[in-house]
Amino acid sequence: MKLELSTPVTAISPVGVTTASRLKRLGIETVADLIFYFPFRWEDFSAIAPIADLEPKQHVTVQGTIQLIANRRSPVKRKNLTEAVVEDDSGTIKVIWFNQPYITQTLVPGDRVYLSGRVDFDRYTLQLINPVYEKVKKDTTHTARIVPIYPLTNNLTQKQLRFLIKQALVAVSQVKEFLPDAIRTEHELIGLAEALSQLHFPDTQAALDQALYRLKFNEFFLFQLQVLLSRSELRTSVAVPITFHEQETRQLVAGLPFVLTGDQKKAAWKIIADLQQPRPMNRLLEGDVGSGKTIVAALAMYNVALAGSQSVLMAPTEILAAQHYQTIYKLFQPLGITTALLTRSQKLCGMESVSKAALVARIAAGEVAVIVGTHAVIQDGVQFKQLGLGVVDEQHRFGVTQRKALRSQSGDAATTPHLLSMTATPIPRSLALALYGDLDVSILAEKPKDRKPIITKLVAESGRPAAYQFIKDQITNGRQVFVVCPLIDPSDKLGVRSVTVEYEKLKQSVFPEYTIDLLHGKLPAEKKEAVMADFLAGKSHILVSTSVIEVGVDVPNATVMMIEGAERFGLAQLHQFRGRVGRAAYQSYCFLCSEHLGERTQTRLQALVDSQDGFALAELDLTLRGPGMVYGSQQSGWPQFKLAQLSDHQLMVKTKQAAELLLADGSTLRDHPVLQEHVDRLLKELHPE
Ligand code: ADP
Ligand code: MG
Repeated sequence: MKLELSTPVTAISPVGVTTASRLKRLGIETVADLIFYFPFRWEDFSAIAPIADLEPKQHVTVQGTIQLIANRRSPVKRKNLTEAVVEDDSGTIKVIWFNQPYITQTLVPGDRVYLSGRVDFDRYTLQLINPVYEKVKKDTTHTARIVPIYPLTNNLTQKQLRFLIKQALVAVSQVKEFLPDAIRTEHELIGLAEALSQLHFPDTQAALDQALYRLKFNEFFLFQLQVLLSRSELRTSVAVPITFHEQETRQLVAGLPFVLTGDQKKAAWKIIADLQQPRPMNRLLEGDVGSGKTIVAALAMYNVALAGSQSVLMAPTEILAAQHYQTIYKLFQPLGITTALLTRSQKLCGMESVSKAALVARIAAGEVAVIVGTHAVIQDGVQFKQLGLGVVDEQHRFGVTQRKALRSQSGDAATTPHLLSMTATPIPRSLALALYGDLDVSILAEKPKDRKPIITKLVAESGRPAAYQFIKDQITNGRQVFVVCPLIDPSDKLGVRSVTVEYEKLKQSVFPEYTIDLLHGKLPAEKKEAVMADFLAGKSHILVSTSVIEVGVDVPNATVMMIEGAERFGLAQLHQFRGRVGRAAYQSYCFLCSEHLGERTQTRLQALVDSQDGFALAELDLTLRGPGMVYGSQQSGWPQFKLAQLSDHQLMVKTKQAAELLLADGSTLRDHPVLQEHVDRLLKELHPE
């Protein structure tokens, strides 16, 4: 049968129903999906060593003939053993496989095999334990070559997946090249199909490097193209200019219970200047936790309201939306500006509970000036009378679909609302410039003056009792405590098991006298909200959580953040956790617990003890652990970069130039249909409707 890219995996023998459903869980349904399922590392088993030359701990391939092979049951370990003796011209070696008795049906004495694995030393002699085996042939898949290792779960094996991908690669020539020749020549890039096949089964290390370079180039290049396209789209869009009400703005600022920092003033000033333009603003406001982004956004919304337009502020969770609403309502109510909260569970106009229908009607009639809500609710059918400004909190940028949705809801099809994204993820400026070519960036680096630094301590196992006692004292004084647990077992994807174990331990044996609650990603949304709401209301003393509490929630009464397995988190992320406490006047504390306080871990974590600066910590993290770890896709929202690393500044700049060149003199992708297809597909993957 001829395989097409769209051929379902079930058409490849021997994929049955079970394997197909396991593959599906990895997102693999077609031949193309197999080809685009990338290895995350490779093992170099290309060197074939004579048996006589083997040394302990080497990773090698041996080529030999099976002399003996038999199964037996090990009385001690109650395991099935398969033992073999393999010979080459130079000598013989013993081979053992555990619990794979079926091997004796595949391999029989006289077979010539490759065995790849680690050489072990067993008291008297060298042996190979659980090596990968393959009969000798010209084109090997699992041995005697650079072997791909794939990210796997769900009972699939490397062998299975390699076997399937190798078959799928028969169709790789059907993957259409999308880079124009000029760019390929200029940047010395190999063809796409060749890069894909070398990525999976490289002939040499050099070929693998070339393949990686080409595919990383793809990722950044497509991203840069998308950025440029969206920038040029914005440049040709029209926005309603918002008049600056300087007098009123100054009065509002003067009435605040605090003085704005210099950075806050600068950012607000920039934003207000943007709003006065007849072009839509597209700005990112970056600022560490607690740097005071909300008030900056509020000043913008105030001017929009005074100009007779509406604003919407979107938060990632209901709790966060409700918290923002408290702030916004208190600020705007005395000024006679009507506000509303719209989430799944709460609809408020002012402080009055209203039906969804009534609220939607008031928004459409323009009776509400400032609407606070979650993304989902806002995208679900609300029509504005005249939307002037959209603000998203805790997000790097407005997504393309969000932008489209807002525009279609704005009440005026001819104009695009001004957009402001806010994030606490500290992205160093150099990186931000490359990543956010379509955005203007404002950074709040300065902290409000009255902030007490959070006292941060490393806690080794021996220090645990004292830490628990400290927590008891805090709770006795009326404060509350967060305990964050890492994901320990990789198969426990959401960390549910680890966090549950910790929760039980604290509840049963450490703090039986307190109310403890549990929060993790597997809980239904309503349950999550309820747990957070209880904690916020002071109904529970301790909240044990996975990293889901990372984003934005403000519990002013919480003063201790205890982080278990701190060595498993990046500095930037630890800093985000720490930002959950110290949100009020109480002195707050962060305990970094680690059972494995080795020297390197200690040095790394010590940085948190010494610094409260999120940007500095992010830079340091970047140098210490590499960008893959720091900005791992799941952590910070760049799922499109599977191979490329954000810190690869050079490649970022190169691809940016290539994209600019391609779109120079206002040309579009119309002349490059295949490229257009890829950009469209990328957009769909990133922002599924
Ligand atoms: P974030 O940037 O993390 O979203 P918020 O906007 O929630 O920070 O602000 C955190 C707290 O700091 C709020 O209670 C806010 O009222 C307060 N705040 C904001 N700006 C200042 C300032 N210049 N001085 C003192 N407190 C401030
Ligand atoms: Mg915030």
